[in-house]
Amino acid sequence: MAQEQQATLMNNHHYLIVFFPVQGHINPSLQLAKNLVRNGAKVTLGTTNRGLKQIKSLPTLKGLSFASILDYQDNDDSQTHKEFLSYLAELRSIGPQNLSNLLQKFLADGEPVTLLVYSIILPWAAAVARDLQVPSAFFFNQCATVLTIYHRFLNSQDGIHGKINSSPSIEVSGLPLFSSSDIPTFLIPDNPFSSVMIKLMQEHIHVLEQDPRSFVLVNTFEELEQESIKAVANMNVIAVGPLMPSAFCDGSDLTDKSFGGDLFCQSKDYFEWLDSKPKRSVIYVSFGSLAVLKKEQKEEIFHALVESGRPFLWVLRSSNNEEEEVHKMMENGLNGDGIIVPWCSQVEVLSHRSIGCFVTHSGWNSTLESMVSGVPIIGCPQFSDQTTNAKMVDEVWGIGVRAKANEENIIERDEFKKCLDIVMGDGDRGKEIRGNAGKWKGLAIEAVKEGGYSYNNLKILLEITR
Ligand code: UDP
Repeated sequence: MAQEQQATLMNNHHYLIVFFPVQGHINPSLQLAKNLVRNGAKVTLGTTNRGLKQIKSLPTLKGLSFASILDYQDNDDSQTHKEFLSYLAELRSIGPQNLSNLLQKFLADGEPVTLLVYSIILPWAAAVARDLQVPSAFFFNQCATVLTIYHRFLNSQDGIHGKINSSPSIEVSGLPLFSSSDIPTFLIPDNPFSSVMIKLMQEHIHVLEQDPRSFVLVNTFEELEQESIKAVANMNVIAVGPLMPSAFCDGSDLTDKSFGGDLFCQSKDYFEWLDSKPKRSVIYVSFGSLAVLKKEQKEEIFHALVESGRPFLWVLRSSNNEEEEVHKMMENGLNGDGIIVPWCSQVEVLSHRSIGCFVTHSGWNSTLESMVSGVPIIGCPQFSDQTTNAKMVDEVWGIGVRAKANEENIIERDEFKKCLDIVMGDGDRGKEIRGNAGKWKGLAIEAVKEGGYSYNNLKILLEITR
């Protein structure tokens, strides 16, 4: 520790991490920042001023500060609901100048940025850094397999985008074939976000191709995705995950129990309820911060949970009035042994001994958090990379099952009940899944502990960006 503190004093790193202010990007960015600060770096986290305001309470840590890279002119609350696409366009038109000003201000103040880390959706940040001769790194907060698939489609040498039919499939050596239902949904031409997201990811990849010295930080660990990391060997991939609050992962800082950047207000009253439940008995259900489920889908989940006869904790974000709808169902005589909350401390819930499985939309953070907690998964992917994550969970890591949706894209109650019986039951598959979940939990924790691959990679990052 004393040695680390000494390193702290000698270390002149100043990282600027810029990210898009949605929960799935905020959490790993914050954790990466905290890990770097623990290694003696100074870190500034940059996002929109509105994003900074929406975060309920920002973490306070010596060496960590926050800055805005986009100041809205007005304070109209309707901005919160701004269409995603116009939000992106605004960020692109104003963000580069603001980011450039910020980098120059740090230089003038005698605190030059030694590495600009920019996350998905902000490829223009690399050009700003290059113009000011600041080194940069792309922070890919999805899994390396998704990065590999995007690279196969969009690289400028032999990318297959546009050269194949509407049901593309992809081979990655050592992994099962990825069919059109397994690749990120943005790569499927009829997806409404397809053209914008393809352009963005293409730009990300081209920026990296133009600067062979730049590298990509990925929230994964080497043992988990060796094949995919190898498949993009020309991209200088550095695995630094799983990025999780230390108390639930490497255990080096037991006070670090949350990411510290929630956009939603948490309920508090569910821990007592969880404490009252037997070990591995509770079904935890959450579809993350963005997915909006159809009413019919919520009904199917609700009936499956009640009919399973098992206790459940279900996150239904009140911003969509979802909670109210399901409360109505409960009042209609379908009460089960369950509680519904608008938001919870997911990392704490998943590490609670009462949790038996996680019914999830398969967002990458949720998948990793479940893995680190050794909790089996029922994957119900909705969009983006979630389809690929659910396939990896089911067919590659064997830590859960992927629920099958019907033609209307609804997962029916019988399918849920079947999946619940598999992962919670005493059958061979359930035992195997729980065994694999325990194995990957151990490997994930080892990766970030002293001497583990991701631990060493973070040290290498600090060394090469000196
Ligand atoms: N999360 C949380 N409480 C909740 C639901 C989600 O803290 O009630 C956190 C979760 O721990 C994860 C993030 O929100 O870190 C969601 O990220 P993910 O990539 O899983 O999904 P997204 O919200 O981006 O679709």
